[in-house]
Amino acid sequence: MKFTELGLGPNIQKAVAAQGYETPTPIQAQAIPAVLKGRDVMAAAQTGTGKTAGFTLPMLELLGGSSARPKAQAKGNPVRALVLTPTRELAAQVGENVAIYSQHMPIKSTVVFGGVKINPQMMRLRGGVDILVATPGRLLDLHQQGALHFKDLEILVLDEADRMLDMGFIHDIRKILKLLPDNRQTLMFSATFSKDIRELAKSLVNDPIEVSVSPPNSTAKRVKQWLCPVDKKQKAPLLIHLIESNDWQQVLVFSKTKHGANKLVKQLDAAGLRAAAIHGNKSQNARTKALAEFKQSKVRVLVATDIAARGLDIDQLPQVVNFDLPQVAEDYVHRIGRTGRAGAEGAAVSLVCADEIDMLREIERLTKTIIPREEHVGFEPIHTLPDSSLDARPRPSRSPKKPRQNRPNRQQTKGDGRGQSQKPAAKSGKGPLAKKPGGNSSGKISNSRRRSGANSKPKGPQGSGGNRGGQ
Ligand code: AMP
Repeated sequence: MKFTELGLGPNIQKAVAAQGYETPTPIQAQAIPAVLKGRDVMAAAQTGTGKTAGFTLPMLELLGGSSARPKAQAKGNPVRALVLTPTRELAAQVGENVAIYSQHMPIKSTVVFGGVKINPQMMRLRGGVDILVATPGRLLDLHQQGALHFKDLEILVLDEADRMLDMGFIHDIRKILKLLPDNRQTLMFSATFSKDIRELAKSLVNDPIEVSVSPPNSTAKRVKQWLCPVDKKQKAPLLIHLIESNDWQQVLVFSKTKHGANKLVKQLDAAGLRAAAIHGNKSQNARTKALAEFKQSKVRVLVATDIAARGLDIDQLPQVVNFDLPQVAEDYVHRIGRTGRAGAEGAAVSLVCADEIDMLREIERLTKTIIPREEHVGFEPIHTLPDSSLDARPRPSRSPKKPRQNRPNRQQTKGDGRGQSQKPAAKSGKGPLAKKPGGNSSGKISNSRRRSGANSKPKGPQGSGGNRGGQ
């Protein structure tokens, strides 16, 4: 399949070619013809699949492609196509994409989101726009102030619909839907199609074509994942060690809390690693600046809370670190979707401490993947993690941690993913997180520990195809 075969006009094809895209991604190949037919579309696609172009390109074609229909110019500031996104960052990125893909067309587009002054946004809406990319709250404010109307709306795109629901935007979305004409075309993109999303879809789309490129809740295919068992207090030193010893130059680190993110930035800075935080307490300007500096490689480590987990379009981000596991298992999938994007490989490592075992189990169940373990010399935790969270039975209660000297006398432990036989010493841990007697009794997938005598540079998963356990 080529872009020339999709029914897009020459101006759009020119812009796509300038981006260096040679072939449409699977979601583009499926969604573009469906949208061009004028059908409603429900697409299951996570960030990194090329979904933004999947809805933007045909939308541009419909709004004013090869037939070059005149752009919106009417009273009361009409909007012809509305793209709703859950976060400001995603809105800005979609807006950038729209501008790039429409650069050879008479299309006027703009982006509005909260956290910045409303007046310049009102000015940009004067005379109407062909495409408006917006977050829900600010859009409603602007509508209330008469800065725009939807009487002429032709297309609605709901981007990252599942995230919208997670972030509590359902009421705002319902309010917005009431303002829109019924005879519009609606495109709904979501990483997953949960029951809630299907419920929302009922009031949103009409006889939709469903397209899907990856099974729901599967983690991005080109991402190599592994985890480092480590005690909580050792996480920051281990992160610094990993960055330095692997020479990672661009690392996105996820922290559970804003406070934790700020603290980690200080620790990284103190270690000489330039870092910045991006989370809800930062002003929009600070967030934009941090992201820009990260993209330009002025900042080596970007520490983010889950607000940044979706939609950050950072090309070919090689490395994601879960400093803390997320609070919701689905967020693991979204977080590591930041790496291994279209055409690029990525790696995601999670630093997992004893408190996080339950969440680890949930993540492994959700993704149907046993994340390979890899301990690092000098950072071994007091208690070993269970070999396979998928195999683990519920634990009745936690017993107190055993002191370090009670552990089996481990030497060097490193993993390459799987398939290595378990040495007796590693089996004998008796703490609550220790491997059960008989260990991997299901015989599904064995633990990834491997002994090697030397304290050599920790081996990342790169180049080790065996690191993707259980898929
Ligand atoms: P998205 O899933 O929309 O966030 O897109 C992920 C990344 O894929 C972006 O950096 C796009 O620039 C890139 N991309 C989109 N379409 C293609 C394509 N057909 N070929 C190569 N890269 C693409």
